[in-house]
Order: sequence, then structure tokens, then C-alpha cells
Amino acid sequence: MFLAELICSDEECELTLEAVDHLVQLELLVCEDCDCCLQIVSISSLEAVELEAPPEPALAA
Ligand SMILES: [Zn+2]
Repeated sequence: MFLAELICSDEECELTLEAVDHLVQLELLVCEDCDCCLQIVSISSLEAVELEAPPEPALAA
């Protein structure tokens, strides 16, 4: 998983977006406003932030 900061590739569109996803999915993202492709401007690995719920005690008092 990666945390990516994306901008719209359309120069007239000011959209910026942060997304957490697999790299292939990030590259497929399109702008919600104008449907242009988004460009990744920064990316960082989130290997440690896999969605993993801590185990909860099954018995409630
Ligand atoms: Zn756009």
C-alpha cells in the first residue's frame, strides 16, 4: 500500500487528492471533476499501515 498525493493533469483544474491504495490502483485514478488522469506528485510506502483491526474481547460485561 502507498500513500500518494495526486494532482489533476489538467492545468485548469486545481484538484489535489491524497489516496491510499495499491500502486496500480493509484495510477488508474481519474479526476472526479473533469475525468482527466491524475498525476502522482509524491508517494510513500505504507507497509506498516495495513488495515488490521485489533482483536476485541468477545465478552461484553
Ligand atoms: Zn481535474
